[in-house]
Amino acid sequence: MMLRLPDPESARCWCAEQRAAGRTLGFVPTMGALHPGHEALVRQARAENDCCCASIFVNPLQFNDPKDLESYPRDFDKDARQLEQAECDMVFTGTLAQFFPELERGQQIRTRDPGPGAAGVEGAGRPGHFGGVATIVERLFEVVRPTRAYFGEKDFQQALVIKDLANAMGYPQIVVCPTVREASGLAWSSRNFLLSEAERAKATCLSRALFAARTAWRTGEHDADRLQALILRELQVAGVQLEYAELRDPAAWSLDPPSGSMSRAQALVAAHVGKVRLIDTLRLDADDDELSSR
Ligand code: AMP
Repeated sequence: MMLRLPDPESARCWCAEQRAAGRTLGFVPTMGALHPGHEALVRQARAENDCCCASIFVNPLQFNDPKDLESYPRDFDKDARQLEQAECDMVFTGTLAQFFPELERGQQIRTRDPGPGAAGVEGAGRPGHFGGVATIVERLFEVVRPTRAYFGEKDFQQALVIKDLANAMGYPQIVVCPTVREASGLAWSSRNFLLSEAERAKATCLSRALFAARTAWRTGEHDADRLQALILRELQVAGVQLEYAELRDPAAWSLDPPSGSMSRAQALVAAHVGKVRLIDTLRLDADDDELSSR
């Protein structure tokens, strides 16, 4: 039976008990509206640790669009059932005031500097987003003090920011897990629940564009501009409202786009489909066939 805890203080106690008993603890932070991508993180956390817990908190600090925050899907009971099926041992939630008790003392929340991983691409279009992510994740890590914490590659820059945070804190070990996709190739996202059937079909162009670039990479096309042009073409044909299509060296994140031939490439895209903003990413030079993680 999975334990459901209503606030960070009770979670802190439970986690401390696990550690005191000598158990390793895997942690999966989420904003709820869970899907197979989240489930995969929980299953991996469960497999690699003696016990595992998840948090559900729609973090207002990381939303730069109030409408996005308002429309974000929320269903705690359904989420808890899903986590239980994925063999999570404990889930906790809390309010902003519970996570940041300094607010009740009249103090402001000190936003954490998200570091160099936040520069450009996703960070450029969402000012304050990664600072908000780093601030809540630091607080969550302080509550749980996990052995390992699990994040999805789909949020590529977020994983960079979290790795920097964990380095600065001295814990936990960060495990980045492959993107889980719907059968159509569309990366699972809580925001997919807001798409109509027609929009969902249209949204498949994001992954199609990325996989087309990977196919081109495998046939020897490593030129940054030509790969970007190929991705843009796929997205333009589908008629979505493009926000960006960018390439970066995943091992040396840089604000500036690359030029010429690349030796490693992470492709990143963001587009609006109807009212919903979606992102996706793919490592072009990876040997793994990411479609197998659907
Ligand atoms: P969120 O609830 O959207 O904040 O996501 C919680 C965690 O799940 C983050 O580490 C995400 O990167 C990860 N995640 C979201 N979608 C996927 C996916 N399709 N595959 C794997 N991980 C994902």
